[in-house]
Amino acid sequence: MRATSSLLIATHEECADHRPFPGHPERPQRLQAAIKGADGLGARLLPVTVNESDALRAILTAHDATLPERLRTACASGPQVFDSDDNPISEGTYRAALAAVAASIAAVGEVDARAATRVWIPVRPPGHHALRDRAMGFCFFNNAAIATEDLLKRGIGPVAVVDFDVHHGNATQQHFWERNDVFYLSVHRYPFYPGTGAGDEIGSGPGRGFTRNYPLAAGADNDTYSGAVAAGLEDVLSVVTPAAWVISAGFDAHRDDPLGGMKVTEAGFAAIGELLGQAAGKKPILAVLEGGYALEALSRSVRTFLAALDGGVTS
Ligand SMILES: [Zn+2]
Repeated sequence: MRATSSLLIATHEECADHRPFPGHPERPQRLQAAIKGADGLGARLLPVTVNESDALRAILTAHDATLPERLRTACASGPQVFDSDDNPISEGTYRAALAAVAASIAAVGEVDARAATRVWIPVRPPGHHALRDRAMGFCFFNNAAIATEDLLKRGIGPVAVVDFDVHHGNATQQHFWERNDVFYLSVHRYPFYPGTGAGDEIGSGPGRGFTRNYPLAAGADNDTYSGAVAAGLEDVLSVVTPAAWVISAGFDAHRDDPLGGMKVTEAGFAAIGELLGQAAGKKPILAVLEGGYALEALSRSVRTFLAALDGGVTS
């Protein structure tokens, strides 16, 4: 039995205000499903305030100023498609995307103040496909990259970014491609959307060797998926000693997911959480929600993942 939990939750209710057209898989109900996953784990809820100028300052570490400005303007003129067909927006999308960033940087603040070592950031819209100057793949601002930049700005580095969403985090990889203060590890289905993430993509220049991809064929099960994470974590630790870990936590590799085409179950996400908890030890982990489109499976998977992640620091 665990006496106390070290788990902190950073989220904001406005993340539900991004409302793509009915039937879109990245729907508002995902927020509550992802929050509900932490029920019963004894987590502390961090009050988050959305300050637009603070959020924008953080966004500009990973995006051109034109992107938030274009999104703000587009949302003000009502529901439409933004940048590509898979990014429908509503009037609340800009505020929701700001709130996701606000929660992410509030989490970093808690880590910097040594008030938390395991943080769950259930936010939407997700972020790891959001390019420097345009939205892509349900994503508008890259929450994980922005949180990573904020950690580095506060002198907390190097940072390991581990992305186990079933889709490759193309934008995160691209952002840190030539950097040696961030190691980007991704385990994902390949070939698959968005098309990147081959095994020979390893970074370039000073960042050569600081990107590692584990492309997996469709239908990967718990052992295959968590085995790739385990191997990838060895790669990370052979190159850097991370001062903090940012996890692009997507749960769309679940066997019930309508998009992923993999066979991972709650037990597989528990195994991944345990591996990450062990790799990080007493160093902070900030896990931010990416994909995961089967609501019940999302809640259950978040629960087993967080329980295992938290166990890593208290046991
Ligand atoms: Zn995904």
